[in-house]
Amino acid sequence: MNPAPDPLTTSAPAVTQDLAARFSQEFGSAPDGIWQAPGRVNLIGEHTDYNEGFVLPFAINRTARVAVRVRPGSSVRLLSTYGDQGLVSTRLDSLEPGSAKGWTKYPLGVMWALKQRGIAVPGVDLLLDSDVPLGAGLSSSHAIECAVISALNDLTGAGLEAQEMVLATQRAENDFVGAPTGIMDQSASLRGSEGHAVFLDCRNQNVRLVPFETQPADLVMLVIDTKVSHSHADGGYASRRASCELGAEVLGVKALRDVQLGDLAEASGLLDEVTFRRVRHVVTENDRVLQTVELLASQGPGAIGPLLDASHTSMRDDFEISCPELDLAVDASRASGAIGARMTGGGFGGAAIALTPVALEQKVRDAVATAFADAGFKAPDIFAVSPAAGARRIA
Ligand code: ADP
Ligand code: MG
Repeated sequence: MNPAPDPLTTSAPAVTQDLAARFSQEFGSAPDGIWQAPGRVNLIGEHTDYNEGFVLPFAINRTARVAVRVRPGSSVRLLSTYGDQGLVSTRLDSLEPGSAKGWTKYPLGVMWALKQRGIAVPGVDLLLDSDVPLGAGLSSSHAIECAVISALNDLTGAGLEAQEMVLATQRAENDFVGAPTGIMDQSASLRGSEGHAVFLDCRNQNVRLVPFETQPADLVMLVIDTKVSHSHADGGYASRRASCELGAEVLGVKALRDVQLGDLAEASGLLDEVTFRRVRHVVTENDRVLQTVELLASQGPGAIGPLLDASHTSMRDDFEISCPELDLAVDASRASGAIGARMTGGGFGGAAIALTPVALEQKVRDAVATAFADAGFKAPDIFAVSPAAGARRIA
């Protein structure tokens, strides 16, 4: 079990103290500890994960925090500082896929997945507080899961390695929550590190941390949340996935990961026009991830702008998963000084990122806000993120 790094005393940071105080107020005594896990931004590598390719997300300085106390018996009480669901009580032995509602499916899914692994999960009281924006494509849901699994791993003494926690949270998402997601979000949240991006090979799940610091390069990473909800996301995601599978089948490879840039000319003669463009996105995107990793090492973040731009163009024109708001966020930020910008996440809404010189941050913010107002779009939420630490115990 990890030792508590900071006792819940007046020396603890204010946010930790507040959460501990709120926990005591709600549940009658102090928590055993507080764990936090970050949301994530995908720097580059979109729709490459299920093609056994490469992704390069980073953990951000926005986190979900859970205060947890083990309680006797097998009942679980859950409360979030956000939303109006109130206190939810349930029993560990009644957990089964489909049994949980609202946000509680994330912590309960983790408890269920740990039980499936034979881990004796105790009853707990749990209070969640998070500043990861919901539904913006920054994985607020995985931040919850990763904070909860970190807490339970420590509290049960299960001793799971980060990779085992990644797989357990994937099981919670896939089988309990019912979302067919991969391992990118959990890998970033659990394995991220301050000043680094997480280079993940989705074929063998190998992870390598790649130095990625914006501040020393006088850059800031802006997230532009378009507030457009991913209304076509489910159907769009399924059809893109089907196109990729078809492409791989026709080209005779296990996954599109196995198609190289040099194979594209021949592929264009073998595939229908739409499938070819879907394939071209995946193949060029995998290559852009590898180039980004190389450039970050050799020249730093100031050199990756053109790759971010090219990624967006590919998603807009070849994979066709952008939308007018995302295109506008990207175009307006670039026109006002961002050195590279792209939509991030699954597409059809959500957020864009704009890598911006610090001196031009306000100009870019203003330009994007004005462009949205002029277009009659809902005002976007714009905020800066930096590559931050992965999940850990904070008190
Ligand atoms: P994303 O993970 O991209 O933010 P999701 O739809 O996967 O979007 O997850 C959002 C869901 O996560 C919300 O609908 C809610 O159930 C849950 N959630 C996230 N943060 C909180 C919070 N602070 N309190 C309660 N529920 C939350
Ligand atoms: Mg999510």
